[in-house]
Amino acid sequence: MRISIIGCGYLGAVYAASMASIGHDVLGLDVDQDKIDGLNQGRAPFHEPGFDKVLAQSLESGRLRFSTEYADAADYEAHVICVGTPQQVDAAGADLTYVHAAVDSLIPHLSDSDVVLGRSTVPVGTASSLVERLRAAGSQAVLAWNPEFLREGFAVKDTLHPDRLVYGLPEDPAEAARAREVLDAMYAPMLEAETPLVVGNYATAELVKGAANSFLATKISFINAVAEVCEATGADVSVIAEAIGLDDRIGPKFLRAGIGFGGGCLPKDIRAFMARAGELGVTEALGFLREVDHVNNRRRDHVVNMARKALDGSFTGKRIAVLGAAFKPDSDDTRQSPALYIASKLSGRGADVVVTDPAANQRVHAERPNLAIAEDAYAAATGADIVLLLTEWQQFKDLDPVKLREVVTTPHMIDGRNVLDPAQWREAGWTYQSMGRP
Ligand code: NAD
Repeated sequence: MRISIIGCGYLGAVYAASMASIGHDVLGLDVDQDKIDGLNQGRAPFHEPGFDKVLAQSLESGRLRFSTEYADAADYEAHVICVGTPQQVDAAGADLTYVHAAVDSLIPHLSDSDVVLGRSTVPVGTASSLVERLRAAGSQAVLAWNPEFLREGFAVKDTLHPDRLVYGLPEDPAEAARAREVLDAMYAPMLEAETPLVVGNYATAELVKGAANSFLATKISFINAVAEVCEATGADVSVIAEAIGLDDRIGPKFLRAGIGFGGGCLPKDIRAFMARAGELGVTEALGFLREVDHVNNRRRDHVVNMARKALDGSFTGKRIAVLGAAFKPDSDDTRQSPALYIASKLSGRGADVVVTDPAANQRVHAERPNLAIAEDAYAAATGADIVLLLTEWQQFKDLDPVKLREVVTTPHMIDGRNVLDPAQWREAGWTYQSMGRP
């Protein structure tokens, strides 16, 4: 298949390189000239394990190139929208400016046999409105929705070996058949590998994504809410999570209490889902997501309070080492990162904050120049009055408490991700605190 991929961020760039790697002829389009120049030279614009390799191989194969010229898309038959859908600046809903701009730029280069596929996460109703946009501009191209479920840190694997494919097809049988033909050809290796395929209409496909992310966010906030109760009672949330996770109706995943979720998806997706429900007159149906969001935000502030108490009520003149800035390990994505929120809050309250992250240091330096950056955990912790582990990178999980103790001023660790062994750290002389564990 000849596929143009519009928007080459975390989703689109990985998707472009991965689709080329399975034999398609791919054009990656973006409005960011620096990003496109870098990608054409094999430079990944972000940290994602395995991406550099698949990018290099796909460029070398001659099946992948990147451009800022929409006119180049005219040679391609499938066009996949992967642009961002961030939260609106002054409201909870999704900002569809980039989706509309991408479709408007694409329209003059579409032929009527082309298929446009939506892969960005959008509010329900977007696909139908995009069809109207296409038709109003005189295009008869077919539109289908095909939501993406990749996890940063596993993006290449999730793209090449997804746990399911979802097609949202048009009502018209001929259009649905054309969309299906293109989608099946694009995902032929995945379908041959018996990846489950779920087919519905536009609204169903759009809602699958909203429902999936809302469920994940709810599971995280659920265990974090239980952690709050544990903190009031002396119970241990990690033991509770283990016990309830053994029930296979519940399952053990996404039940690690901590400082909550962040990133470019879950926070904005649950807010957009709620906002859309409001527009549709079913506000109450998703009212619980407001609480999910509140629990999530409370855990960040809880860590700031824990640090303040540990430092005898004042941050002034105190040095705080923050281990982690990305919203999750194996990524440099700091969007809505709980770690970065906490670091900024502490700095704003007068602490001398030193952040270190194995992949996001450069991004932090660019986005938050007021935060000091250190090369590694030992450099960050040197002279620290308290150490906060806020992103569960393997490097931090493997820290040697005896060695780290030698460089700090006060051996006090707040483990915001419940990943360290309390006994080992206490034995090494640390005051160790974590989330919802005594
Ligand atoms: P991103 O911000 O990393 O990338 C968006 C890209 O779109 C940027 O490179 C930007 O320059 C480009 N862009 C903006 N306007 C454009 C235009 N008019 N034409 C061409 N390019 C344009 O965002 P992302 O994380 O890749 O997310 C993209 C979408 O995918 C969002 O809807 C997101 O919710 C969804 N999604 C993301 C993930 C993830 O893990 N990042 C997973 C599943 C779904």
